Amino acid sequence: MNMKVMDVPAAPPAQDPLDALFDAMFRPMNAQGVYARTGAYESVVEALAALISVKRDAETEVFRFPPVMSRAHLERHGYLKSFPNLLGCVSCLEGSEAEIRAAADLHATGGDWTTGLETADLVLTPAACYPVYPIAAARGPVPPGGYRFDVACDCFRREPSPHLDRLQSFRMREYVRIGTPEQVRDFRERWIARATALADELGLPYRIEQASDPFFGRVGQIMAFSQLEQSLKFELLVPLRGEAAGTACMSFNYHREHFGTTWDLRDASGEPAHTGCVAFGMDRLAVALFATHGRDVASWPEGVRAALRL
Ligand code: ATP
Ligand code: ZN
Ligand code: MG
Repeated sequence: MNMKVMDVPAAPPAQDPLDALFDAMFRPMNAQGVYARTGAYESVVEALAALISVKRDAETEVFRFPPVMSRAHLERHGYLKSFPNLLGCVSCLEGSEAEIRAAADLHATGGDWTTGLETADLVLTPAACYPVYPIAAARGPVPPGGYRFDVACDCFRREPSPHLDRLQSFRMREYVRIGTPEQVRDFRERWIARATALADELGLPYRIEQASDPFFGRVGQIMAFSQLEQSLKFELLVPLRGEAAGTACMSFNYHREHFGTTWDLRDASGEPAHTGCVAFGMDRLAVALFATHGRDVASWPEGVRAALRL
């Protein structure tokens, strides 16, 4: 039988449903995952931040971190073992005026001025809670009641993507608990319950699922498996693309004694402290609100606007 082979036209690139919201939220800045934020979007981020502040436990210390941190501290955290592919490192032109001028002038003559860059002692902070552990450790033994922190930071991860829920530069807010295993486990349990109540207030559909971090490479797969096996990470996933697996908008992490050992963060008897954190992806949550309720904040459901005081 003679079968006629039809020329199948190439399918147009599948449009991401979030793309339709781009203008309501962002303007391009010539890099994937790096966007100028509109006033409407930013008012939602600010409202979310205020709502999260209302839920803060008593006796929580507040810190706001700059978008860069000590490279030596990040190295000590073990980041190069776990996520070397995501790290952004600051580099600068250093030296005498003549040396800096010569390197910079390469640009005007079509050369590559970046060959003169030197690695600085700073990296772009990849998660909001990293800088808090050395601050706590510097105080000496952890008191019996442990510590509670409220931290936030503009975070950077080198994961360029066309998807508006995966940025390279994004805001992360976290509540951090340092103390005994019971204190940290209790903190995480309560925060999973509080966070789901928060998602309900915001009218967001969600699932809570066990998760692992995107550890780098083949060794990373073993680390991810062990993380899953020990139930160290949960995520609140909001479906932003129909029934497909959702986008992680919050995570609930138990680090066991990892940071306690790394930073010599110990209780009075010398046992390493346990730590845990709940992280709110502020940009992810804002994108999820726009995706769920539409581009026009004024027409979002009454209850959601009341919760956000918008
Ligand atoms: P994912 O599973 O989506 O890769 P993650 O597990 O690496 O995220 P965490 O390290 O737990 O994320 O970071 C805490 C929170 O920060 C996430 O739950 C998410 O809301 C937010 N977040 C992480 N990466 C990004 C990103 N590239 N863009 C926007 N928000 C992000
Ligand atoms: Zn954290
Ligand atoms: Mg994840």
